[in-house]
Amino acid sequence: MTKKLYELGEMPPLGDVPEKMYANLIRPERFGEPRKAFETEVIDTPRPGRGQVLVWVMAAGINYNNVWAGLGHPLDVIAARQKQGEPENFHIGGSEGSGVVFAVGEGVSGVSVGDEVVLSGGLWNEQGEDIRLGVDPTLSSSLRAWGYEANYGSFAQFALVSDYQCHPKPKNLTWESAAAFILTGATAYRQLFGWAPNTVKPGDPVLIWGGAGGLGSMAIQLVRNAGGIPIAVVSSEERAEYCRSLGAAGVIDRTRFSHWGRMPDLSDTAAYAAWMSEVRAFGRSFWEALGERRAPRIVFEHSGQDTIPTSMYLCDIGGMVTICGGTSGYAADVDLRFLWMRQKRLQGSHGFNPAQCRAVINLVASGLLDPCVSRVFDFDGIGEAHQLLHDNQQQPGNMAALVNAPRTGLTTLA
Ligand code: NDP
Repeated sequence: MTKKLYELGEMPPLGDVPEKMYANLIRPERFGEPRKAFETEVIDTPRPGRGQVLVWVMAAGINYNNVWAGLGHPLDVIAARQKQGEPENFHIGGSEGSGVVFAVGEGVSGVSVGDEVVLSGGLWNEQGEDIRLGVDPTLSSSLRAWGYEANYGSFAQFALVSDYQCHPKPKNLTWESAAAFILTGATAYRQLFGWAPNTVKPGDPVLIWGGAGGLGSMAIQLVRNAGGIPIAVVSSEERAEYCRSLGAAGVIDRTRFSHWGRMPDLSDTAAYAAWMSEVRAFGRSFWEALGERRAPRIVFEHSGQDTIPTSMYLCDIGGMVTICGGTSGYAADVDLRFLWMRQKRLQGSHGFNPAQCRAVINLVASGLLDPCVSRVFDFDGIGEAHQLLHDNQQQPGNMAALVNAPRTGLTTLA
């Protein structure tokens, strides 16, 4: 083990793990807005244990989950891990990334030192009884999000992952593009194709909230590829244009409506009538954007509290609202009459399984899915990148940060 502290981009000899490394991390005393929560520090480099891989990180993807981690709300991820017996009083976020396998622990299979890889964020216990009995790992009781619920994510010179989190890096991709599409791309893929029989079929209209966001930009393309008709919701003309450029058949500007959030109580007839009138107007906007009077077969949800009542109303008979997040809040109202009378499905969806992950990597490698990386930050800009997400001021698509990669545009260490 070497005592030298290597600067970002200055690679130690492969396998010779330095004692210390740089990490852009969160501490409980800094919980709050991302700009102040993240700071670059020098800490001990983790060692790979059994089945684990230490990765020299070239670039990291920026995702909304570390906005939550920085806020310390709704979950204090550091306290939660300490409760489980982990000693660290810091959180290294980053639930996806690209890099080079630097060292491996005992019993690692499928990857070797020197491999160029992309990293997925699902972490589970492969020896767990449910997984041994064949359950989808995403449904395992041991599932955790690496770089959120688990420590040593990609916002550091070295990341600690399990071997099954490493996938061959598509050779045509830059480090920064390779780092930033799996979490949103594969999550969107599971939402749209993982819940049979409600999967996207040719000709299906699909309503996509936050069409210009990380998930949304992936969803528009995935729906298009499957022959569906993506209709995106946005909050600005710039974002509308971006969605059209990705293949959205129509776009709705949500700022023209005001009925967002919790539903009024049914006993307040005036308020309920006003609310219903706005929801119906939004529905007419959907028809206009689609060019015909059909309801969405699938509603792609993650905005949560503000939008769920509208999603449940708009969704087609026998259709599905699939949700993976609650950006605007978690306490969302469902008018159960729409749910049962129209036999709709409200389906929670979280992360993705290995097959869904590989499907998305293959789509990107073959040029059928653009990773949509619109902005790349330097290592010290990780807090700022999360602040933009927090404030909904980010550019459309996905965002990445360079870690050890010296500049953008590079595709290989060689
Ligand atoms: P982004 O910030 O990139 O995009 C979210 C989009 O949502 C924004 O572009 C914005 O678009 C829209 N939006 C924000 N607030 C509202 C609102 N109140 N009503 C309607 N739309 C809104 O984030 P991601 O796409 O990466 O992630 C979205 C959510 O999904 C996050 O909460 C994240 O934590 C979660 N997520 C969950 C995963 C899982 O596996 N469970 C995986 C990935 C993400 P506009 O203002 O233009 O309408």
